[in-house]
Amino acid sequence: MERYVNCKGGSGARRGLYTLRKALAETGKGAAGLILPPSCIVCGGRALNEERISFRLPCDVPLCGRCLMTVVPYPKDRRFLPLLSQPYEGDELRAMPLYMPFPYDGFFRKAIPLIKFSGKRELAVFSGCLLGSIMKSDHVTGDLIVPVPLSEKRLRERGFNQASVIAHQVSEITGIPVIDSVLMRTRETGRQTEIISSEERSSNVADAFEADPSMYLENNRILLIDDVATTGNTMHEAAAALIRAGADEVIPVALCGNRNIRNDEPY
Ligand SMILES: [Zn+2]
Repeated sequence: MERYVNCKGGSGARRGLYTLRKALAETGKGAAGLILPPSCIVCGGRALNEERISFRLPCDVPLCGRCLMTVVPYPKDRRFLPLLSQPYEGDELRAMPLYMPFPYDGFFRKAIPLIKFSGKRELAVFSGCLLGSIMKSDHVTGDLIVPVPLSEKRLRERGFNQASVIAHQVSEITGIPVIDSVLMRTRETGRQTEIISSEERSSNVADAFEADPSMYLENNRILLIDDVATTGNTMHEAAAALIRAGADEVIPVALCGNRNIRNDEPY
């Protein structure tokens, strides 16, 4: 309010109040935005400044305390698990671990559909900030970051690749460079979440990726980043393509997911 009054060159409290009332009456919503806290982009509730400070919000994204309280990571010893819960015979990446710090629950169960189907890109930015911070504290590191790409068709529909937005935020926090152009989808695949049987999910993404071997992947440890892991099949195929193109090591990283297995194996 003070800033508004100052901007208008008001010379006293009465004049300031009058200017503000007039502005509210004349411009309604626009002026109200100057004094009311912004709405939470997940639930529409008030996103208060005190809550932003108390939750130490890593990005300038309006979220309310109620939503922020539901950002709860897995316990530290449950964040690594096998990439494929059902590896197949002869799978070369059988022992590859997946780093997945958050459950697909609470905040993410609301946020991920909003990112994917309502174009809320800023939620992907916020999620990337969370992922980068937790990776840093868990010492999950590498030489290059590669996001799992979308098909051309889906990229056109959505306007952005959420995995890439998340990857760029992780890069900002960790200082590890991102290469967007290294992985390509070789064909259109169905949505993994719409396929029920695990066999069909696996064949849906088999050989769906190709990596550019001219990207100097050799001797590099690649952090392969996606938003959600369900069966791990998408990441498995993308990781296999990176290894075929010469990557030394791939660490698949999913922001969130639910897996019905206990992470008893030490990685
Ligand atoms: Zn909220």
